[in-house]
Amino acid sequence: MPKINKILVANRGEIALRIIRAAQELNIKTIAVYSEADRGSLPVRHADEAVCIGPPPSSESYLLGEKIIKVAKESSADAIHPGYGFLSENATFAQQVSDAGLIFIGPSPDSIRLMGNKLTAKEAVKPYGIPLVPGIELPDIKNFNKVKKAASDIGYPLLIKATAGGGGKGMRLVHSEKDLKDQLARASSEASSAFGDSSVFIEKYITNNKHIEIQVLGDQQGNLVHLFERECSIQRRHQKVIEEAPSPVVDKEMRAKMGNAAVKVAQACGYFGAGTVEFIVDQNMNFYFLEMNTRLQVEHPVTEQITGIDLVKEQIAIAEGEKISFDQEDIKLNGHSLEVRVYAEDPENDFLPEVGNLHHYNRPQGLGVRVDDGYEQGMDIPIYYDPMIAKLITFGKDRKEAIQRMNRAIDEFEISGVATTLGFARFVINHPSFVSGEFNTGFVSDHYKPDQQLSNGFGSEDLSNIASALAYTIWEKNRQNLQTLSNNSSKSNWKDRLKYD
Ligand code: ADP
Repeated sequence: MPKINKILVANRGEIALRIIRAAQELNIKTIAVYSEADRGSLPVRHADEAVCIGPPPSSESYLLGEKIIKVAKESSADAIHPGYGFLSENATFAQQVSDAGLIFIGPSPDSIRLMGNKLTAKEAVKPYGIPLVPGIELPDIKNFNKVKKAASDIGYPLLIKATAGGGGKGMRLVHSEKDLKDQLARASSEASSAFGDSSVFIEKYITNNKHIEIQVLGDQQGNLVHLFERECSIQRRHQKVIEEAPSPVVDKEMRAKMGNAAVKVAQACGYFGAGTVEFIVDQNMNFYFLEMNTRLQVEHPVTEQITGIDLVKEQIAIAEGEKISFDQEDIKLNGHSLEVRVYAEDPENDFLPEVGNLHHYNRPQGLGVRVDDGYEQGMDIPIYYDPMIAKLITFGKDRKEAIQRMNRAIDEFEISGVATTLGFARFVINHPSFVSGEFNTGFVSDHYKPDQQLSNGFGSEDLSNIASALAYTIWEKNRQNLQTLSNNSSKSNWKDRLKYD
């Protein structure tokens, strides 16, 4: 079996550091590649070697597959870990890596290709009896009257999605037939500019849906297991901001059903490595396959916390050709974990990304708190990449304790220089709907309206939401003062307003 001695990490930020740490624990050498914007970054400092691969735009650095492979060969690396984003779901890159005689730490190019297209993915899993959202495959229907008829058969509202889609881009909600043609044209042009592929398809829009996904692991011998679910329904712009494991609404029976379905999806594409099968869940707790992400997921730490399994080490062992060392029955679910993605974004201004310098940056610590990040005080948040600063992860014996720890960790996290989503996260995790577990992907649009709540005064029925939004706004605006206030007084008003339970 090929032993990996040196890994080139084809990524940046927190995930590059996460991979480097796992490699270090396994005594595997690492090479960081970096753009000019990341010269002083943490992965560059932590890796054994670091090579600059180009200017800041990712099209001139982190997306240059051939250049990255050349660096790997020249530095005698024997494997490449792509992390998430960038080249991680690029089948051509995965193929080029293995053609160059290197190990791609991930699934086969064929699995990536099959699952990278939402329609071929649906086709592939259909024979396995996986529930699918009713939809219309537009490449089959050239005639608009036919599309209109098929759409009304499914029933409005409908969602138009990009076949090559990802990151919530190219999605359009259609409420009625009169908007269908126009929205199809818009979605198609958005898809073309975002993915270089204008093809779109239509799905029934599942109202009040939850997004629940299953972590799977497969080895090259064909063994597959699942590592339970992650609840990812707290989203803005169809993108996750807070995740947890297990889901507060999934019971043992549903967990087993979803887990089995996810394993079948992985079987359908001959999967090996770590992957995630995403499901959308309707109000009656019926689940439907959405897509499979053929890589490590941003929110993988919550699964690691509740299973005690290091997913990056498993990825490396699988890439070396080792068998998974445990059976499904050996995997035990223990405790509860939450992840808050701390973005440099302004939640008061429609989550607009921010750039700037981290004047002050102090991570929370203590029992049950994990911070995966790639920044330190004094560093700049570059404009070129995803504005995530850190992942704040807590673990508790149960959900209540994980939430309590998250509140404490948010209090302790000191960031100044850019607006962040920390105060927004505090609003969410203390909201009655979140605390009850009965929330869906509409949470942010249903409950989080700081501007409206402020300008409307106290006219709304839900006074606790208003109090929380107000407290949040004050907290964001006067973060430094309030930090001092909270340190000096355990009985400040703004803190009391945030308490629901
Ligand atoms: P992407 O690959 O762009 O992230 P996904 O298919 O994974 O797109 O969907 C992202 C999110 O969009 C889901 O978590 C869900 O909130 C919403 N979504 C996707 N499909 C549907 C649907 N058919 N009905 C309602 N919401 C949907």
